[in-house]
Amino acid sequence: MRGFVPAYDLVTPGHYEEALGLLAAGAKPFAGGTDLMVRLEAGELAERCFVSLLQFEELRGIDVFADKIRIGALTTYTEIQAADCVRKEFPMLAAAARETGGVAIQNRGTIGGNIANASPAADCCPVLLAYDATLLLRSLAGTRQIRYQDFHTGYKQTVLFSGEVIEAVLLPRRESNWRDHFRKVGARRAQAIAKLNFAACAQLHEGRIVAIRIAFGGVAATPLRCLQTEQEVLEGSAFALAEIHPISDFRSTAEYRNCVAHNLLGDFLKGLKS
Ligand SMILES: Cc1cc2nc3c(=O)[nH]c(=O)nc-3n(C[C@H](O)[C@H](O)[C@H](O)COP(=O)(O)OP(=O)(O)OC[C@H]3O[C@@H](n4cnc5c(N)ncnc54)[C@H](O)[C@@H]3O)c2cc1C
Repeated sequence: MRGFVPAYDLVTPGHYEEALGLLAAGAKPFAGGTDLMVRLEAGELAERCFVSLLQFEELRGIDVFADKIRIGALTTYTEIQAADCVRKEFPMLAAAARETGGVAIQNRGTIGGNIANASPAADCCPVLLAYDATLLLRSLAGTRQIRYQDFHTGYKQTVLFSGEVIEAVLLPRRESNWRDHFRKVGARRAQAIAKLNFAACAQLHEGRIVAIRIAFGGVAATPLRCLQTEQEVLEGSAFALAEIHPISDFRSTAEYRNCVAHNLLGDFLKGLKS
């Protein structure tokens, strides 16, 4: 870790189109800055020109529609926790926001920054996979939507091209009878990056699982939706969790992560029977 922050430019354009133009020319988006400032100080960033997104209403707010809710990319963890529609219909997202960093990070850090930073252990990411989120992306060329499960292409790699921003997260609203479960496993309850995290939801009909979505963070190079395991559970077979490939690092060992991942899913499935 370096002990100083190198000189950098933070440009604050008045118009969204102007910002998109600067980004297309090679500047880097700056939202809450909670990841960026750490990386800048650590000497990990080559970029020295940042474009603030914070002033743009287009990237703000939580809006409820008949079939979905739209969460602007600049929505902070504090705002997510305070939103009634999130607490009632997407409780895992409120839980993940509550367990992300401390109060200062929750006031400043944004959901868009968490996704774009693309850490495999980020707390919102498995939740968004389990809720089958779609991302609304924008650049000078226009907008496009992509299912979040197709967003991460490798370790810290995403489908975002240079000049493109995440504008909003879209969460499809669900019928009733869904049970949700989020767990973050870290060295401490607060201020710890997860060793692994788990988000799953299942729809029950007369006590039977009729739909299930299972996702993990911290057990592969990207946040991971476990489609094969979902199929095994629906067919009533034993699950192998063949998709996960945890590594050993300074936070934990591969063996621990593997064992805990199996336990977390096993506990969730057992809980569905009660
Ligand atoms: C002390 C501390 C504790 C933390 N604890 C946790 C934790 O418990 N769990 C966790 O998951 N994370 C944690 N973090 C990481 C961080 O706070 C989150 O990832 C946060 O959500 C990042 O959002 P931001 O707005 O600050 O992003 P920024 O730092 O502004 O940006 C992060 C990256 O995303 C890009 N970016 C930002 N917004 C957009 C956008 N709309 N479109 C395209 N690209 C964009 C930036 O260019 C940059 O590459 C912690 C960080 C710190 C410093």
